[in-house]
Formats: sequence, C-alpha cells, structure tokens
Amino acid sequence: MGASGPNIAIVGAGIGGLTLALALRARGIDAEIHEQAPELREVGAAVALSANATRLLARLGLDEQLTAAGAEPTELIHRHWKDGRRIAAHPVGASYRERFGGPYLGVHRAAFQRILGDAWGSERLHLGTAVSGVTEDPTGAGPTGGDGGRVRLEFADGRSARADLAVGADGVHSAVRRRVTDEDVTVYSGTSGFRGLVPAEAMPSLPDPGAIQFWMGPGAHVLHYPVDSAGTVNFLAVVTGPQRWSEDTWRAEAAPGELLAAFDGWHPAIIEMLSGAPQSARWGLFGQAPLRRWSRGRAVLVGDAAHAMLPHHGQGANQTVEDAVTLADCLAGARAAGGSEAYDVALRRYERLRRVRTRQVQRSSWVTSGLLHLPDGPAAERRDRKLATVPADFGWIHAHDAERAAAAAVAS
Ligand SMILES: Cc1cc2nc3c(=O)[nH]c(=O)nc-3n(C[C@H](O)[C@H](O)[C@H](O)COP(=O)(O)OP(=O)(O)OC[C@H]3O[C@@H](n4cnc5c(N)ncnc54)[C@H](O)[C@@H]3O)c2cc1C
Repeated sequence: MGASGPNIAIVGAGIGGLTLALALRARGIDAEIHEQAPELREVGAAVALSANATRLLARLGLDEQLTAAGAEPTELIHRHWKDGRRIAAHPVGASYRERFGGPYLGVHRAAFQRILGDAWGSERLHLGTAVSGVTEDPTGAGPTGGDGGRVRLEFADGRSARADLAVGADGVHSAVRRRVTDEDVTVYSGTSGFRGLVPAEAMPSLPDPGAIQFWMGPGAHVLHYPVDSAGTVNFLAVVTGPQRWSEDTWRAEAAPGELLAAFDGWHPAIIEMLSGAPQSARWGLFGQAPLRRWSRGRAVLVGDAAHAMLPHHGQGANQTVEDAVTLADCLAGARAAGGSEAYDVALRRYERLRRVRTRQVQRSSWVTSGLLHLPDGPAAERRDRKLATVPADFGWIHAHDAERAAAAAVAS
C-alpha cells in the first residue's frame, strides 16, 4: 500500500476505467490502468451524456471541455415514421439544465475518450496490456497490510502484477468478470442496429436538426442527435430481427443496401440520413440478466462488465460514470475508516448502491425497445399518448445524484 492508500489496478481504459481513475485521484487514491488496446481510440460513433453523468463529470473539472466538444440538443421529439408529424416534444437545453443541474450533451465518442484520457495523462496508463486472468490469495496482504497486494493480474504477454484491488472496467466481454462469477448473462433482444455520423447539409428534409429525435415505425426506429457545433448528426437505426443472433461477436457484416431496404417508405429525412453515411456493420443489441454478484474478494466490476443494457435510454455510459464515482466514494470511505474489513464493507456498499438502480434502467430500456417498434394502430396510439409525460416518467434517471447517494451511505 502506498502512502495515499490502496494500490488499485483498473482493467480497461474505456469510459468506466478512465472516469474511475480520475474520481480516485480526486479523492487522493492512486490507480494504475491496464488497457489491451495499443492506443486510446474511438469505439462507435457518439454518445449522449445526460445530467446524471455530466453533473459528476463537471465535479471532475471536465465540464468546459465537454461543453466545447459536444452539442446540447434543443428538444426531445418523438415523430411518426412516415409523415414525420411531431407526436410529442419536450424542451431540453436550458430548462433541462435548470431542472437537473447539468446539461444533456451529444458528443463524439473519440472526443469524450480524448477528454478523459488527457485529464488522466499517460503516466499510470499501460497500453497494449491485455489482462488474461485475475487470481487472489485471500491470506495475502490486503489494502491495510500492503506488501504489494493480494490480487494478481496476469497479462496475455506472460507478465503479471499485484494490486490490493482489481476493478474490471473491461466492458461486455470482461475478463475480470470470469473471476467474479461464472454466470453467462447476455440476452439477445431480437433487435439489431446500424450507426452513423452524417453532416447536417446531407439532410435538407430533416426538421429540427438540433433536436434529439426518435422516429418510430413498424418494426424499426431511428434515434438521432447532434454531436458538435457543425451540426453533425449521430444516428442509431434499430430494426426488429434477425430472430437469432448467431455471430460470435456483437457485430456482423451487412449486405450492401440492407439498411436502406429496412426503411423503405419512411420519411425522406430518414432516407437522407441513412444514405448520408457509409452503411455500418449490424450490431446485435443485447441486454443482460442481472448478475448475482458484482465482486468476489478483491475483484469488483463497473460499467458494461456488470450491467450491459439496451441503448434505448442512452444510459450505458451514463450509468458507467455513476458506478465509477460511487466506487471511488466507497473506497475513499474505506480508506478513512481503515482496516481490511472496511474494504469488504465498501464493496458491499457499492454493490448495494448500484445494483437496484442499474437493474431498473436495464428493465426500463428493455420495455422501451418493444414500444418503439409498434405498427400504426391502437397500441401505438396508447404509447403516443403516454409520451406526453416522458419528462415526469423518466426524471428519476436524470435527477439521480450518485455522489450524494454514496456520501449518505458512507456517512450512515
Ligand atoms: C449501439 C450502441 C449505442 C450506444 N449509445 C449510448 C448512448 O447514447 N449513451 C450511453 O450512455 N451509452 C450508450 N451506449 C453504451 C455505452 O457505449 C457503454 O455502456 C459504455 O461504453 C460502457 O463503458 P465501459 O467502460 O464499461 O466499457 P467500454 O467503454 O467498452 O470499455 C472497456 C475497455 O476495456 C478494454 N478491455 C477489454 N478487455 C480487456 C482486457 N482483457 N484487458 C485490458 N483491457 C481490456 C477495452 O479495450 C475498452 O477500452 C451504446 C452502446 C451501443 C452498443
């Protein structure tokens, strides 16, 4: 154990790993990050950050860079797939900021990753270091005894390292999760998506290009939002099917024209949008049954490793940021309390704080998936009436302050 507390090894320098490292540093705790990729690079096109995360990122001093890099949508609009009529519309911008204490921002993933990576720096970031396994000697020194740590990380190149605590921030195919649980929890949703970035000028028919919008139709929907000051739009086009996902990975090559064929007959703005970017691979959309445990001994999970979810509330990355800050607060509480048992308490507290909330978001996103693909008819009309109360219905997602919840739990 170093002078500043336990020696924490974070596996993965994605959104969760980098946010956790920054949140630990802000609390005076050291961490080392091990990332399999040889460089920090973009995964996917863009991400929408909501107030439950932007508020936390602002406390890490990242608000100005994020606001400069991203774009704040003007409204949240739901539209009819064919005639484009506004079914429901709610302001986002300033009124959202005032209500939830942080902005809603669309941002290029590469820009978000760069902002997090620059804030952390290169010193304690080990690139090209794939973790192949985690083992533990529970009788070894823990965070209070500290002679190098009781957790052993094994790397794919044969090297190894020791730590007091290993955090699996290594995404949906987590290697650290294999240490924590043998549950196989991913569930294919029966839907798949295509993603792209399109310049504003390629979509002359698009109404309200500065808004975040859902276009809902039979067996498909399109979500899009602006991601920079140039008006570039990020889209996720989701279709029902294929019935089974037989690929080993979550991405599959799609035949030329497959995406446009699925949206035949849709509003011209959607056709312009989908034609305005090269057709992406097809992403199988998977949810996850809740894990029975998020930690074992001194190995713990954050982000997609613990709770991958469907993207329909745009919450995967936002919940990951919440996890990271919560875990940092719980570990800071343990350091202040002192003693090895304090870390057992901290990990249990972290799980308790995060499991119920992420489960609720996972479940809600799964339900939303079906509602977005209803054919025109009475069920779609019932859904459309319900959209009038979206801000009230989903305020619980955006209003949550994970740091405050953790502080209250640590103090209790
Ligand atoms: C189509 C789609 C759209 C989405 N849109 C949104 C959105 O708008 N808003 C939102 O909030 N979320 C969205 N998400 C979800 C979001 O992308 C994830 O929830 C988020 O990236 C999870 O962060 P993470 O840090 O847990 O994992 P990741 O960001 O996946 O990072 C994991 C890191 O670990 C590294 N790694 C993996 N294995 C190892 C290993 N063995 N050793 C070392 N390093 C390793 C990886 O290289 C990677 O850098 C979307 C997801 C999808 C599929």
